[in-house]
Amino acid sequence: MAVSAAASAREILTRLHDVMASRAPAQSKLNSVVNIIGEALDSEVCSIYLLREGVLELYATRGLAQEAVHVTKLALGEGLVGTIAANIETLNLDEAAAHPDFAYRPETGEEAFHSFAGVPIIRKERAVGVLAVQHAEPRRYHEVEIEALQTVAMVLSELIANAGLIDPGEAAARPLATGAVRIPGFKLVDGMARGQAVFHQPRVVIEHTVAEDIEAERHRVYAAFDKMREQIDRMASQAEFGVGGEHDEVLAMYKMFAYDEGWSRRINEAIDSGLTAEAAIERVQQRTRMRMREIDDPLLRDRMHDLEDLSNRLIRIVSGQLGTAAQLGLRNDSILIARNLGPAELLEYDRRRLKGVVLEEGSLTSHVVIVARAMGVPVLGRARDVRRQVAEGDLLLLDVTEESVTVRPSAAMEEAFEARLALTQKRRAAFAALRDQAPVTKDGHRVTVMVNAGLRDDLGALDLTGADGIGLFRTEFQFLVSATLPQRETQRRLYKDVLDAAGERPVTFRTVDVGGDKALPYLNHDEDGEEENPAMGWRALRLALERDGLMKAQARALLEAGAGRVLSIMFPMVSEPWEFDEAQAIFEAQRAWLAARGRKMPTEIRYGAMLEVPALAEVLDLLLPRLDFLSIGTNDLTQFLFAADRAHPKLALRYDWLGPSILRFLKRVVDQAKAADVPVAVCGEMGGRPLEAMALIGLGIDRLSITPASVGPLKAMLRSLDRGALIPEMAKLLAQPPESLRKSLEAWASEHSVELA
Ligand code: PEP
Ligand code: MG
Repeated sequence: MAVSAAASAREILTRLHDVMASRAPAQSKLNSVVNIIGEALDSEVCSIYLLREGVLELYATRGLAQEAVHVTKLALGEGLVGTIAANIETLNLDEAAAHPDFAYRPETGEEAFHSFAGVPIIRKERAVGVLAVQHAEPRRYHEVEIEALQTVAMVLSELIANAGLIDPGEAAARPLATGAVRIPGFKLVDGMARGQAVFHQPRVVIEHTVAEDIEAERHRVYAAFDKMREQIDRMASQAEFGVGGEHDEVLAMYKMFAYDEGWSRRINEAIDSGLTAEAAIERVQQRTRMRMREIDDPLLRDRMHDLEDLSNRLIRIVSGQLGTAAQLGLRNDSILIARNLGPAELLEYDRRRLKGVVLEEGSLTSHVVIVARAMGVPVLGRARDVRRQVAEGDLLLLDVTEESVTVRPSAAMEEAFEARLALTQKRRAAFAALRDQAPVTKDGHRVTVMVNAGLRDDLGALDLTGADGIGLFRTEFQFLVSATLPQRETQRRLYKDVLDAAGERPVTFRTVDVGGDKALPYLNHDEDGEEENPAMGWRALRLALERDGLMKAQARALLEAGAGRVLSIMFPMVSEPWEFDEAQAIFEAQRAWLAARGRKMPTEIRYGAMLEVPALAEVLDLLLPRLDFLSIGTNDLTQFLFAADRAHPKLALRYDWLGPSILRFLKRVVDQAKAADVPVAVCGEMGGRPLEAMALIGLGIDRLSITPASVGPLKAMLRSLDRGALIPEMAKLLAQPPESLRKSLEAWASEHSVELA
């Protein structure tokens, strides 16, 4: 027997290399393979089973009866071989017949053999076959022999793929699911979609497994490790890291693994056994996966995800396949799978083919979710383990309304899904029918319902929903989708198109709000050092006032686009009144400059501030006299009020918008603005949720700017609401908050037949 796993595998691989390079037909190659392995491991029997149409068929054997070849077949999960494939596990038994899954096949003549060891042959994380050895003597195979078998199985997967022997149906040979799986998640953007699973960071399919030159492979791995460590270090030191939405905890893990000596040593050992760099990384990952499967510890499983991520990253670096799925292009209706995404990354996708997104993380008010909402793409968040349970190309039924995604559905599931889809479409049609109905409460109070927008494609939403205007146009979306800073003329054209589309309806342009989780690749956000906390950092108005070139260009573009009309400008993240003054002064200077040159001006410029930073509320009395309007951005406001990162998945559900602290805070602001006769609106995501919107109306708010898909449900809510009865009820609830304000409001809505979609 060989002395080490590496030496043992290397000897076999050297011989397999010649077989693979030969022009012999596939069957004779497999026949040679079983002989080589049997001899090298001194095993009387060596057999290869391949998955064909969902069944494992004996394809080649040394030692078992040759008549059994292509005759012996085992279903997934049947017998030892079926169990290995179904669970993607290794079995090493001194007495095969004693195992509970043993299934006797008389045609093979295997009763003569006692010991048995088998490993799965894996392709794209699915078992496509099984490699097994048997021995007459009852003995357990040594660890080194098992390792050698596993290494050989990797090479075999290349051989059978090249020979066209991979079952095209690739029937569900998955461990966690020999059929459909339903993965629960959390509703981020409501909707339903059907499509093929596409990984944002595609898995690399390994083409070559046997090394030609071991030292060269070793160098490739070293170089890839260096590059990966550099990337991780850079991520850790960059404020922009927030773009990907990942968090410090993950980063710390990445860093630990990236520098883990044990990991690189194991990869090196796999290279010693004769594998290419890619195959060695994958081989180590497969082994870790198999080991982890035996340990039932959720914490370790999370760590496993991190290592899996890094392992994929390393393979992508080593193979030079670095593009995201967006860069490769979507070919079919697709559902994107990722741990997390940045808003700019999402915007790179082809909107005609992108039908849905499933994230392992994600939170309601992160910008990627806002962008998805604007794109009309449903998003399921916090779908644990999704990247493990789904394979590229799997059919997915995404049902965010039901908070789940179904992977590889059965025909019955598809049917049920289609029926539900038809139902929601009917409901949507009912909401669309409210398009021409005014948002008036049952007791006759007219509410102004506007939409949030940011992309050119959003403009159709105005007519489709019958909204009163655009209450928040997020101008930074144009900056996010662009690879370079948009020129003034490009900006002007977009703003003009927006105003043209809106016609008589008002549009409020918010000046660029970049930074935080909306970093721009072409803008150096951290020239003054690292930002530990970008959401509270150099962003929005703070950045714009300092980089006033950007603000001036935007002011000019807006003023020119608004010639001859009313132009409403709103500044984000105003924290103190002087910031508003300075921003307004930039616009006024541009106006004066244009006026001096006789250019046509807007008929009126209305300036407003966003209230997103709690400190502003304390000096609102100073600012209100200077404002034409106020708009409350509840997304940022809540993150600052609770000191809870809006993009942090763990905090996403911790604080309720219907808690007394937010509602009391809002009530104070609304009362103050009303007393000063300054119109006040809410433009955060909160206003798009019927129950939350009801609470806002109860606080006296009568202007909302929301995501277009919510306009129908909001109108339905308003038209069934007795505002006069709600206002005193809200006052009562805020004075003496019950244990759950949400539950009390739900109960009130139900008693008063308020329609909450
Ligand atoms: C908000 O913070 O509530 C808001 C509307 O702005 P954004 O979500 O773009 O930060
Ligand atoms: Mg904001």
